[in-house]
Amino acid sequence: MGLFSRRREAAAPAWQPPVPPHCSCVRHLDDELLASVVPFAAGLEMDDEPPATVADLLGPGGLSVRPADVRDQPPGEPAIYTWNLGVYDDARVHYDDDMALDLDAAIAAQHGVDEVDWADREVFLVAAPTLCADGVLAAAALALLDDRVRSPS
Ligand SMILES: [Zn+2]
Repeated sequence: MGLFSRRREAAAPAWQPPVPPHCSCVRHLDDELLASVVPFAAGLEMDDEPPATVADLLGPGGLSVRPADVRDQPPGEPAIYTWNLGVYDDARVHYDDDMALDLDAAIAAQHGVDEVDWADREVFLVAAPTLCADGVLAAAALALLDDRVRSPS
């Protein structure tokens, strides 16, 4: 009987990236956020470079996100990560290591983000099953707008 009922149990549905309005994001890439200027980290600014806004950072060379797949999950651990967040060269000049707040912690502090694994220099695995892609980018932008990611403690 027990075996029979177990067999009839439906498999848990695979996670699907939520889309608005079916996400829990408190912030998306609204006009105000897109127009926000992200300061350069000390020593990483370019002399002749104009100030960068969040909008400037979006794209394959800066901030980009895609749903994490099974190959992204750290081996031997529960597959909890839902998003693969790339923080590439264009964004690298806006934060630095060993500052008051590490960038992974700044991302993890955003609403709807459960956990962050700094998987590679430029790749963050983000467990945020209720955020949509736009909301994950907004979370990354808000993390980069936190001055502690470029201020020595
Ligand atoms: Zn959303």
